[in-house]
Amino acid sequence: MPKRTLNEVHTAVEAGPPHAPAPVTARCGASRSGARRRHSARPQAAQWREELQAGILERQDWGAREPDHDAENETGFYGPDNPEGWRVYEGDLRAIYRTVVVHHSVLYETDDPGTMRAIQQQHMELRGWADIAYHFGVGQSAQVFAGRPLNVRGTHVEGFNTGSVGVVFLGDFSLNVPAPAQIEAGRRLIDWLALRLELTHLAGHSDFNSGTDCPGQYLQEVLGALAESAGLALGTGGYVPDQV
Ligand SMILES: [Zn+2]
Repeated sequence: MPKRTLNEVHTAVEAGPPHAPAPVTARCGASRSGARRRHSARPQAAQWREELQAGILERQDWGAREPDHDAENETGFYGPDNPEGWRVYEGDLRAIYRTVVVHHSVLYETDDPGTMRAIQQQHMELRGWADIAYHFGVGQSAQVFAGRPLNVRGTHVEGFNTGSVGVVFLGDFSLNVPAPAQIEAGRRLIDWLALRLELTHLAGHSDFNSGTDCPGQYLQEVLGALAESAGLALGTGGYVPDQV
């Protein structure tokens, strides 16, 4: 089956309930209640997955490895005796997520899929995590990639992972200005996430962890525009400390 572009997905999402992208009130009022009514009989996860699958490249299509649940720094599954473990969120993801955190990959291989594989390899073999840290990748080709499953906690923003969606833009934006098409692909993804997860905030990685300059100054400069497009506040103010 031919893949649709994220643009088409975005349009399809908007084509359901009336949805004006800019004003927060219109975005929330029209889309949330409408979407819930229209799809109330369908399981949330299945509905979202169907929408997402149409616009992003799935793990098997970029050559992702299976998660390693023996990984040194994310050993086994989350529990009271293993708070750092692979945590699968229970229940409605809208009650979990508040913030999207934007990163850059720094490393870049010859193409986007190769870069996703390299990031995953680095995270699993050098960082000792069970999987790639981020939930989504945004390529220089404007393709969006599925990373760690959205119903699993990421490992992308130390101390603030619970309830934070991780989105990585592929490239080094300390050195390079991101191309308009890549920004646009990221914008559409983040708009979709904000709408579906009912997010409140967008932040750069360095806003939470001051020891990094991620996502690089040239990407940091566009975070305000990304937040505005999605109707989100910019910064860390939406984070809710984890209740373990
Ligand atoms: Zn980062």
